Amino acid sequence: DLLVIGSANADLVVGVERRPGPGETVLGSELDVHPGGKGANQAVAAARLGARTALLARVGDDAYGRLLLDAQQAAGVDTAGVLVGGAPTGVALITVDPSGDNSIVVSPGANGRLTPGDVRAAGGLLRASRVVSAQLEIPLETVVEAVRGLAPGTRFVLNPSPPRPLPPEVLRACDPLIVNEHEARVILGVEPVGEEPADRARALLARGPRSVVVTLGARGAWVASAQGAFPVPAVPVDAVDTTGAGDAFTAALAWRLGRGDALADAAAYAVRVGAAAVTRAGAQASYPTPEEVAAL
Ligand code: ADP
Repeated sequence: DLLVIGSANADLVVGVERRPGPGETVLGSELDVHPGGKGANQAVAAARLGARTALLARVGDDAYGRLLLDAQQAAGVDTAGVLVGGAPTGVALITVDPSGDNSIVVSPGANGRLTPGDVRAAGGLLRASRVVSAQLEIPLETVVEAVRGLAPGTRFVLNPSPPRPLPPEVLRACDPLIVNEHEARVILGVEPVGEEPADRARALLARGPRSVVVTLGARGAWVASAQGAFPVPAVPVDAVDTTGAGDAFTAALAWRLGRGDALADAAAYAVRVGAAAVTRAGAQASYPTPEEVAAL
C-alpha cells in the first residue's frame, strides 16, 4: 500500500565530553550503531503500525547494508526494492555531547547512487502503491522521476529534508508537503510571510502543493488545504528523545491517507504516533505499535 523512496544510513553514535577542535583528538564513549536514514526510518515506522510497506533505496554491499536490510525485514518491510552496491552504505557520523546536542556528518554513499533509472526500473512497484512517500536524502532528480512515474490515483507525500528549493513539478504533486519549521523557512526562501505556523502553511500552499502540513514538535502541527487551515493539537508526553519523530509522523500520515482517511483524521493519528516516538530513545527503536498508539 505504501512505498517509501529514500535513504538508508547506518548511524554511528559516540558520546564525547566536548568536540575536538581542528587537529585535535578526543576519546569518546563506546560506539553505538543504529539503523537510520529518513527513508528506512519511515518504512520501519509504517510497517510497525501495520502498513503493507515497501522500501526503494540503495545500500552498499557491506556490513552496514546488511544491518539495514535486517532491520527492515525484522519490521516486516518488503525489501525487494532495496538495491545493493555501487558505493558504500550511507553513514551518519554522530557525536553527542553531555548536554545532548548532536553534531552530524553524513556521507550519503549509496543513497547518492539511487538514480532516476532505478525508479523507472521499479515502475511496477510505484504504480501498485496507493501512496508514495519521499524525502531529500537521495538525489532530487530521483524524486522528480518518482513524481513522473506516479499512477493517476497514487498519492504523493514529500518531506523535503534536508530542505532545498523545489521545482514546481514536485511541489504540485505533494499531497501533502510535510515540513518542520526550519524546512518551511528554507522552502519559502526570502518570501516575507508571518511568523505564525498558519501563515507559513498558507504561504506554502500557495506554492502549489495540494495540501501542506507544518509540524511543530511539542506544539503538534498545522494543516492547510483547499478546505482551509487548522491546527492539530499535540499529545502531551514526557519527551525522552525526539530523533526520528518527524519520520514516524510522516509514515503514519502517509499510510492513513493511503487507506482513505481524511487529512484531518490522518494528521490527528500522526500526531499520536510522533508523540509515542519521542517517549523512547532512538529512531527506529522508538517507533510504536498500534496498541502503543492507542494506549497514549
Ligand atoms: P522533526 O523531527 O522533523 O523536526 P517535529 O519535531 O515537528 O519534526 O516532530 C514531528 C511530530 O512529532 C510533531 O508534529 C508532533 O506530533 C510529534 N512530536 C515531536 N516532539 C514532540 C514532543 N516533545 N511532544 C509531543 N509530540 C511531539
